[in-house]
Amino acid sequence: MIDVELGPIRPPSEHQSLLLRLTRGCSWNRCFFCGLYKGMRFSVRSTEEVIDDIKKYAAYYGERASFFKSCFLQDGDAFNIPAKDLLSILHTLKKYFPALQAVTTYARCDSILKKTETELQALCEAGLNHLYRGIETGSDTILQKINKGITAEQIVKSGLAAKKAGMTLSEFTLLGIGGKSLSEENAIETAKVINAVNPEFIRVHHTAFKPNTKLGRDVEKGLFDLQSEEEIVCEQKLFIEQLTDITSYYVNEHIVNLLLEVRGKLPEDKGTMLAIINSYLSMSAEDKLNFAVGRRLGYYYYLKDMQNEAENTAVTKYIKENPNTDFTLFCNECRAEMI
Ligand code: SF4
Repeated sequence: MIDVELGPIRPPSEHQSLLLRLTRGCSWNRCFFCGLYKGMRFSVRSTEEVIDDIKKYAAYYGERASFFKSCFLQDGDAFNIPAKDLLSILHTLKKYFPALQAVTTYARCDSILKKTETELQALCEAGLNHLYRGIETGSDTILQKINKGITAEQIVKSGLAAKKAGMTLSEFTLLGIGGKSLSEENAIETAKVINAVNPEFIRVHHTAFKPNTKLGRDVEKGLFDLQSEEEIVCEQKLFIEQLTDITSYYVNEHIVNLLLEVRGKLPEDKGTMLAIINSYLSMSAEDKLNFAVGRRLGYYYYLKDMQNEAENTAVTKYIKENPNTDFTLFCNECRAEMI
């Protein structure tokens, strides 16, 4: 065991990275769909403490330090701290982990906009070269409803600033975050900001409304017009259709998503991704429900898994034995347990 402080999460793609905690919690911590840091007061660790952790890691790993090719800076928005502190940390990281090719972190748009062009460039040159941004949606109406504290204009402006500095961008978007009434708007407006920024990675998630959040409580009270899995897939189809003139990877790496096979490079894989979605949407209502419930119960991983007769029968039996279940709510509850 290494005696370093760690935060609770990291993006799925950072599973092999060195984890270094710079802040505790999230500087904003007010999004209505997010329960990650509820009850945790935001604080910034001192630069000395963080540098101590780097030295402890280096002593522990010794020659194996060169195995680490990337480091993820925790927690919710480590990019929020002043550039000069970030630079001290990055220089120390480089000294003790010279093989690092990427340093990454979550970054809110307003934290990016607080940095000057020169600071952004210096940070990128010092190794902080990949930002994960939870933009969630490009709709100002939805951004307000979820209390994200940013606007679509800020998303585009900050994204372009980070790209100009040479940073790679991963944009997390939430399908289903607007509910039924704002589904079309979510798809169209989110595609607009993505098209304007052309990030290297679009990372889609089906929204999971957790009970410890305001929107989760709204779902429980029936105050939020929750979409079914099929409706979220329809939204995903419209979103992909609207993505034009960009060269992003459409990344689908989280189990919370229904159709895990929808992934690829734009524009060349757009047709294939839409064909997979259409193959799901063209199934009978019974089969679509069977797949959604089977996925959420863990019987299936991909659409082709429905061909396994024993598993298909088990899912059908489960649906028949639970005639009063609201499967839209059920699927949301299952998704919420996955994040
Ligand atoms: S979604 Fe991100 S910005 Fe919003 S409260 Fe959660 S960690 Fe903070």
